[in-house]
Amino acid sequence: LLELNHVEKSFGDLPVLKDISMSVEDGEIVSIIGPSGSGKSTLLRCATMLETMDRGEIIYLGKKAVWGNENGSLSYAASGELKEIRSQYGLVFQNFNLFPHFSVLKNITDAPIRVQKRNKDEVYREARELLKKMGLEDKENAYPCQLSGGQCQRVAIARALALKPRILFFDEPTSALDPELTGEVLKVIRSLADLHIAMVIVTHEMAFAKDISHRVIFMAGGVIVEEGTPEAVFASDNERTQNFLGRYG
Ligand code: ATP
Ligand code: MG
Repeated sequence: LLELNHVEKSFGDLPVLKDISMSVEDGEIVSIIGPSGSGKSTLLRCATMLETMDRGEIIYLGKKAVWGNENGSLSYAASGELKEIRSQYGLVFQNFNLFPHFSVLKNITDAPIRVQKRNKDEVYREARELLKKMGLEDKENAYPCQLSGGQCQRVAIARALALKPRILFFDEPTSALDPELTGEVLKVIRSLADLHIAMVIVTHEMAFAKDISHRVIFMAGGVIVEEGTPEAVFASDNERTQNFLGRYG
């Protein structure tokens, strides 16, 4: 579904991603864990083309989105194809990024109707189903400022799902939330597993990562130190992995 090959990225003379290669299969749930500053957010931003990379290759569904040339420059797919590729994935960030002047329902339905030009009745029907799944069926007319952080994040997840992505990226979806609100958002993310959408989740919630993931990637200092099943990574005898996990007790 997604393939990253030899991705490199520096900010000025600080190398942040050093030759990162990874792939995500259809329906697979991959967690990315690692210390602060290890490049996890930068990796998600490069993979979703919010950030340009310096070298490497990004392939969605077998279609090259970005690729390197022999002289070290990068080529991008034509804009029509990039648009098609972008429609395959959704993003959920730490800070929700809801439109404050739109109701909950409009936050969810706006892009499917205006950008994807889908049938309005169908979009509204699906949006209400998603709100129900998120436990927010009574909030469709509320505005973001009237919601708790956990509710906002569940609206943000519904909004991403309304675009029917094949792959959903989460960057620390609960790090701005109190512990009790974290639980409700993690529960919702867990409930998405049966939708068979691939998920790439950057998280500091180790128990959650261990529990939900098919595969865990441990990053440190801009490289993938190791990856494998949660059982393997959490029981790893790699010194860096142990050091990191040790801090989470
Ligand atoms: P955290 O767990 O704290 O979110 P992270 O693993 O997501 O950390 P990144 O945000 O990817 O880490 O940052 C990796 C490094 O790149 C850090 O040293 C950071 O200071 C640097 N960095 C990130 N974005 C920029 C930017 N736009 N300009 C300059 N440096 C940046
Ligand atoms: Mg980050």
